Amino acid sequence: MRIEVAKIEQRPLRGNFRIRDCVEDPGFNDSFTVKDCLVKYELYRISEAEIMLKIHYSGSMQLACTTCLEGYESQLDESFSVLFTSDPVEAEGAVTLEGKDGFVQVLTSDVIDLEQQVLDTIRLNIPMAHQCRQDCRGICPGCGKNLNEGDCDCVADTVDPRWKDLESFLNKKE
Ligand SMILES: [Zn+2]
Ligand SMILES: [Zn+2]
Repeated sequence: MRIEVAKIEQRPLRGNFRIRDCVEDPGFNDSFTVKDCLVKYELYRISEAEIMLKIHYSGSMQLACTTCLEGYESQLDESFSVLFTSDPVEAEGAVTLEGKDGFVQVLTSDVIDLEQQVLDTIRLNIPMAHQCRQDCRGICPGCGKNLNEGDCDCVADTVDPRWKDLESFLNKKE
């Protein structure tokens, strides 16, 4: 959904659209797929140089657990606003956005790509470490098995180091 900046007036322009099965790969070993997301937007002009965009999105996405690397589904339900300005000096001083989820962006194009705005925000909201579940056990460093699916045979090998000392002590005695 792309909106021409020239067509945005003071009277709010409202609408909604869906993002479906959209695969995003930022290239940082961290991709996600927006399964189905409903986006509601409101767009209006504040002044000659400034445009306000308000968005709410909700739905679901698929992403990979940083601990076990398995894919899992996560819910989306967020709001954010962007103040677009064609005046870069204005952008530096603008800290008057309501709430913590506001951004200021310098308008560099004559269209605003609403879908891209949502995808960028989803990406920013994904924590560095995100897990399929709170107690994800991850992957065994020894054999690579996903420990959520059960223990592997390596477990018997991980003897407490203090016992290892005793073991070698006993061996010497023999
Ligand atoms: Zn996991
Ligand atoms: Zn193992």
